[in-house]
Amino acid sequence: MILRVYTTCPGCDVPTMLRIGVAVAPGDRQPFSVRCTQCNSVIRGKLITTEDSDVSAELDESQLLSEEASGDWRVITTHPAFPFIPQTVNSPFLEISNVLGKAARPYFQTVGEFNALAMKDWPKLERSYQFYAAEDWDRFDNSMSGLLGDGWPDLPDMIMRHDLVHRLLTFMIFPLDPSGMYAALQKEIWERAEPSQRLVDYVIDATAQSQFAALQKRLFSQIAHLINIRHLWMPSIPFLWLNRLGYNIPLGWRLPGDDFAVLRGVYQQNFELSCQALPMLVVAQNSADGRVATVIRADGESSPWVPPQFPESLRSPRTLSQFEKLNAVAKEAFLDRFPLTEAAWNEAFDRNIRNAIAHADADTVVATGDIMTGKGINLSYMEFVESIVKQLQLLLLWLNLAKLFRVYAVLAGRGQT
Ligand SMILES: [Zn+2]
Repeated sequence: MILRVYTTCPGCDVPTMLRIGVAVAPGDRQPFSVRCTQCNSVIRGKLITTEDSDVSAELDESQLLSEEASGDWRVITTHPAFPFIPQTVNSPFLEISNVLGKAARPYFQTVGEFNALAMKDWPKLERSYQFYAAEDWDRFDNSMSGLLGDGWPDLPDMIMRHDLVHRLLTFMIFPLDPSGMYAALQKEIWERAEPSQRLVDYVIDATAQSQFAALQKRLFSQIAHLINIRHLWMPSIPFLWLNRLGYNIPLGWRLPGDDFAVLRGVYQQNFELSCQALPMLVVAQNSADGRVATVIRADGESSPWVPPQFPESLRSPRTLSQFEKLNAVAKEAFLDRFPLTEAAWNEAFDRNIRNAIAHADADTVVATGDIMTGKGINLSYMEFVESIVKQLQLLLLWLNLAKLFRVYAVLAGRGQT
């Protein structure tokens, strides 16, 4: 359904009819912000639905007008849930269904299931995870059995406790990317992270275990934050789907809202957390190569691990503790032994976007859907938001890897209980 809202632009006074796709549950509010196609001002307001599904609009600044107030309305269309063409006079829902074609049904099903989980079961899952992180096993078991019913055993062992809560999270998040990339990355890393004696010797150490647990906490709380602000990035999912499936992107597609300031912080945090996960890949690779887990380069090796992308100005690290002191660019170079993960990382953390954000150089999003940067480079806002979806998949991957390392300790009889 589409609600027509008549007003004038607060910036240029042009009579404007907003066509707003309604995706608000009865009794709820749906904030919207629309950019004037003429003067780039933002028209903000919210849709309000009564319990009997009567929808009306409130504008923050502009006045509501009647349809008769002008004979010449400029039309701007918006939809809160997916990309749209602002100038369209058709239904954004029908348009996106056409664009997605055969993928429309799985797309709507996937986001529908994700949203249903996020609204209904998420608070329980979030609480369960807090008990998990606190190792409050009585409350955790109770909470999980509330979530899973018969799917939760009466006498869970530590492996199940580690495993099932992460499994729920994985089932919720990985289908958002139709490429199945998550599974390929997990395979690539897990093959390297086989529980060899070398790797197990390292991961069962109490300090290492508490680092994995701390990383799990930070990763989970970031994932929780992303789920709570899902309305900011989920509209870019069809863009990701079209790209993954090799379909054409409609010209003039825009995202609803304009949340660059919030998502910029999210992006940065996702990057920092991902860098904190890299030592886990390094110890896995060291062990797989037959070295002690904390040794990156041993004396007399015929082909020592010095990544080709490693900055020439720096000394390539020999140990994990030297690695941990490196800057992000130098650390990233060590993804070279994980080609699929490296490709996914480069896609998720595009250099141009990252530099612009790191230098507070990316200013604002304009009506063309570009992010303006001080260097005169325009970045696509749609691609920027899409990268948040890709980053979410990486956060999940790191979270599951930290879990794997904690499970190894349990299997070795050294997990905390
Ligand atoms: Zn205007």
